[in-house]
Amino acid sequence: MLTRIVLLLATVAGVAYFLKIVSTRLGGLRAAKERNLPFDNIPKRLWVVFCEVMLQTRVVRERPLAGILHALVMWGFFAFAWVSIQHFRHGFAGLDHAAPDASLYGWFAALWAAAVLVGILGLSYRRFVVRPKTLGEHVSKTSGVVAALIVVLMVSYLAGWSWLDAPGAAWKVNWWVHTAALLGMLWVIPRSKHLHLVLGPVAIFFRADITSSVRALREDDDDDFGMLAFSDLSQKDILDVNSCVECGRCADNCPANIVGGTLNPKEIVLQMQRGLLAGGEAIAGTAGEVEAGRAWVSEADLFQCLSCGACEQVCPLGIEHVGMKILDLRRGLVSEGRTHNDNLTGMFTTMERSPHNAWGISQDIRRKFVEAEELPVFDGEQEWLLWLGCGCSYDPHGQRVARSMKRILNAAGVSWGVLKRETCCGEPARRAGNEYLYMELSQKVVEAFGSSSVKKIVTADPHCTRMFDLDYRQDESFAELGIEVVHHTELLDRLLPALDLTPSLERLTLHDPCYLARGRGVTEQPRAVLRAIGADVAEMKHHGKQTFCCGAGGAQLYIADDKEELPGGRVNHKRFAEVEAVGVDTVATACPYCPIMLKDAANQAGREDVKVVDVAELVAARLPEESPGG
Ligand code: SF4
Ligand code: SF4
Repeated sequence: MLTRIVLLLATVAGVAYFLKIVSTRLGGLRAAKERNLPFDNIPKRLWVVFCEVMLQTRVVRERPLAGILHALVMWGFFAFAWVSIQHFRHGFAGLDHAAPDASLYGWFAALWAAAVLVGILGLSYRRFVVRPKTLGEHVSKTSGVVAALIVVLMVSYLAGWSWLDAPGAAWKVNWWVHTAALLGMLWVIPRSKHLHLVLGPVAIFFRADITSSVRALREDDDDDFGMLAFSDLSQKDILDVNSCVECGRCADNCPANIVGGTLNPKEIVLQMQRGLLAGGEAIAGTAGEVEAGRAWVSEADLFQCLSCGACEQVCPLGIEHVGMKILDLRRGLVSEGRTHNDNLTGMFTTMERSPHNAWGISQDIRRKFVEAEELPVFDGEQEWLLWLGCGCSYDPHGQRVARSMKRILNAAGVSWGVLKRETCCGEPARRAGNEYLYMELSQKVVEAFGSSSVKKIVTADPHCTRMFDLDYRQDESFAELGIEVVHHTELLDRLLPALDLTPSLERLTLHDPCYLARGRGVTEQPRAVLRAIGADVAEMKHHGKQTFCCGAGGAQLYIADDKEELPGGRVNHKRFAEVEAVGVDTVATACPYCPIMLKDAANQAGREDVKVVDVAELVAARLPEESPGG
């Protein structure tokens, strides 16, 4: 009887403590200003949970060896669920009634116990002996405690199952050791990163499909100027910051961090977690404010972000570092005038003034280009509006892409036109945190679309595609226009059957623009188009959704400090090194900004011979000379 009372009290105390700490950590969920946990597409979400939790696909893909060791431990937890139920049943039924386990499940669990031991000892060796930089300098004591508890659980299971005679005295002592380790988990898990054992499946269920999404400001909240204080955290933010398993994958894949910048997406999440638990108020501030404990995240770190989404792509927990946190925090700082970055202020001033683009280039340049190239003006009758964007309006390479699109669209027999006048869609302003400037600019563009009866937009700029197809749809006046928006590689893929192409073999590589691959999920269409023109695409180390940023995103093209020398060099140089490693002399891309960055890196490397071309240029070059409009 005493055994049962002790077991009952210990179990109730452990469960109560566990629930108390978990409810404290997630307490803000109920009071959060924004209930933004997505419940759309539930079958797909459940499938993702099955793949990423049950099959551990993402964990294994990102770090195969550590991932497999983690998977052994994880699968062991599932295998041991039944064992644990039986374990407590023995305790409450009376240990004297226990008998040796001769079932087949006993053998199955014993095999898993051995596998879990291999997994946890391997992970411990990596964490405490190898200590890869990515795990951080701080040695987690709780990780050591949890690893020790798992070892005790497995060894005591094997001892009770095989070596000790039930219900002898030694078997009973071993039973209590196993019980103590099981209940000990309830005291350690909720206070540590191991809470991900509970929150992981939930966080993965709510994983976003595409990266770097910026939320709309709350219409019913006049005080919503972006993320400023911990009280501004949404439900998804609270879930995110409590789910982090501190694996460091996000930092490992962050281009800004790789080149030696101080931005570390893992630290941003953890600092937000620490600040939330400590009852902090302001989230972001100057380095001095962070030092003094008046803020938790440094402004300088936030403005190094390229919004490339690599961190979100690799995070095994589906944490949204970028649009939901970094860019929202930038928005909060800008709205309060608490930024200290001259390049940023300069970009805003340039965009605020006519002609309203981040380069400050006169509209005349675009007008003359449109007239010289005889680009048809959109009159509401044509099927497609070709949106040039700033890149294809003002940059000489971008203009060549526009010329190529003209040839292709005419050759495919598509009706199309360009707006007589375009202002910037506001992308750099929104990514840099100036929501009001973005609203002002986007309103002009939406009015132009409405008054021109635009129904379909194609653009060679994935930043603009993303703005129109996602950010702009947060505005009802745009959403109700019902405009279809595609990137030019998507349209080119659709138009292939209508094009009389002469394929010619060319070995090249493809640089996937972040906002196309991760920000839109488009990786196959540009490759299909390249295959259709006879290209042999040699993939770089980072490609597809695992692409590596060119260094221009997140408004860095305009706000980065060109004079700053980082220990790891520059992001575009790192990317160009991958181009060189493939050993090709042509790199295709599908964004007007990537060529600016890649050509700069090629020049610095003395590799002016490497051609950086847009997919549309390659397609246009395979069209017959006499092609209409060519
Ligand atoms: S978006 Fe890119 S640059 Fe920004 S934190 Fe994530 S990985 Fe780093
Ligand atoms: S945010 Fe995600 S990827 Fe980064 S350390 Fe945490 S769990 Fe790992």
